[in-house]
Order: sequence, then C-alpha cells, then structure tokens
Amino acid sequence: MSTSVPSLLGVFAHPDDESLSAGGVLAGHAAAGARTGVVTATWAAGTGRAAELAEALRILGAGEPRMLGFADARVPQSAPDSVPFIEAPLDEAVRRLVAHIRDFRPEVVVTHDAYGGLPGHPDHVHTHRVTVLAVQAAGLDQLYPDAGEPWQPSALYLATHPRSVVPALTEVVGVRKAVYSVPDEQITAAVDVRPWLEQKVAAVLAHRSEVERGAMPGVIAGLPADGRERLLATEWYIRHSPAPAPAPVPSPVVAAQGVDSPGPARWTFLAGTEPGEDNREGLRR
Ligand SMILES: [Zn+2]
Repeated sequence: MSTSVPSLLGVFAHPDDESLSAGGVLAGHAAAGARTGVVTATWAAGTGRAAELAEALRILGAGEPRMLGFADARVPQSAPDSVPFIEAPLDEAVRRLVAHIRDFRPEVVVTHDAYGGLPGHPDHVHTHRVTVLAVQAAGLDQLYPDAGEPWQPSALYLATHPRSVVPALTEVVGVRKAVYSVPDEQITAAVDVRPWLEQKVAAVLAHRSEVERGAMPGVIAGLPADGRERLLATEWYIRHSPAPAPAPVPSPVVAAQGVDSPGPARWTFLAGTEPGEDNREGLRR
C-alpha cells in the first residue's frame, strides 16, 4: 500500500482564487512531495494577471499556469479574443478542462463549491459546474477522444465555508455584499493549513493588481497577522462523490448527554481514496 500524499489539481475561476481558496492544500501537498497544478478558467496568457498567477504558483510549488483562456464575466479585456467563460459553449469549456485533467492525471481535483464560494461570483459558479462535468467525462474513453487518454480522478473536493464560521470571518473582513456558506454537517474535511500559512499569504499577495485595487488580496494585505490566521488558517471542503454517502448514525450516548457534535474530522491532506474511520489522521492514500 502506498502512503504517498495524492497528486492534486485545482480548477479555479480567476487568478487569485487558487491562493485564496486552496493555497494551503496546494502548498501542503507540494511540500509532502505530491504533484500539484492549477487550471484557471479566465484571463489569457500574456496578461498582467497571468504573470501574477505564475508568481503565485511558483510560491505554492504548483508548476506553470494552465489557462483555459476565457474572458472574466466582468472584465472583457481579460481575454480580448475570447467570449466570456459563462457564455462559452459548455461542450467547449468541458473539452478544454478534460484535456488538462488527462494531461496532468491528478488523483484529487479541487474546485469551487456550488455557490461559487463566499462571494458567489458567476465565474466561480460556472467553474464548479464545468469541473463537475469534466471530472466525470475525463474518465470516459468515448467522450472527447481527441483530448488525451482517459483518466479518472479518484476524488473531487469543493472548497467551501461552514455556516458557523461566517460571524468570525465577518469580524475580520467586515460585512460583505454576499456571504454564501453551507450547513456545517456538509463539511467533509477541515484542513489545518497553519504550517503553510506564510506561503499561502505570500501567494495571495503575489496578485499585486488585486492588492492595489482593494479586492480580497488587498483586504488581506491590510490585516494583522492574527486576522490573516483567522481568515486563512483552515480550509473547508466537501468531498463530492458520484454516489451520496450514507447518513451518519448519531451516537445514542452523545445524544443522551446533549454533547455538541465535535465537528468534522481535522485533516492534514486531502485523500484520494475514500477515507475510513481508521485513516482520517494523516489522510494518506
Ligand atoms: Zn474569483
């Protein structure tokens, strides 16, 4: 049985989402010797944002940018020769992502949740949908036969936030226009990324134009160290399986004593194979 940490491919909407949403697990898996990479749906190679992305990925150890090359829904000049991602033919978007999945051959894929994360940006929502489709299509030999040899990732994780942490996040970053979060019981993995927090923050701040225009990297640039830790030191994920997991059976002892649920298991890495009760600590494949 192999004990290596699984290879990881992140798929995110904009340059900076990889660092904000999954910078910790990207740095952690890379530090453990796993192959890691990032596909970015919007912005074209050759733009300033693509150069900032390349710097962030260098800091995270995630290789060279892999750009789908579509335009940001709100920034046409992000890819002047392309349609906005959200208006692109679905089949073409899925095909381009399938080609990257088959080329990289990840065991684990990570993307936005169904809301598109805290802000619910339409590009994030669309990236979620395209990734769910592409992860399944990548393993099927009769779909997109010109996009490489079939490869089936063993797990897809959705980066998200449990509802219970929203008040604490709001305390750090202030009241936002939209704050999407999921019921706590949907969280599969709470990953403690403190060992890689410095790398994660450096990757976020590498998106200098976002810092300058006061987007979330700019907010983070202005936070004291403890604020950065409260905002970024844990990453929460939903393991997205083709078949729903059986509902957990509540322990009668816990129910009788009225003890609060201990919350999701704390993870160190994301797991490729289905994690059992006995292998949650360490999450090795
Ligand atoms: Zn984004």
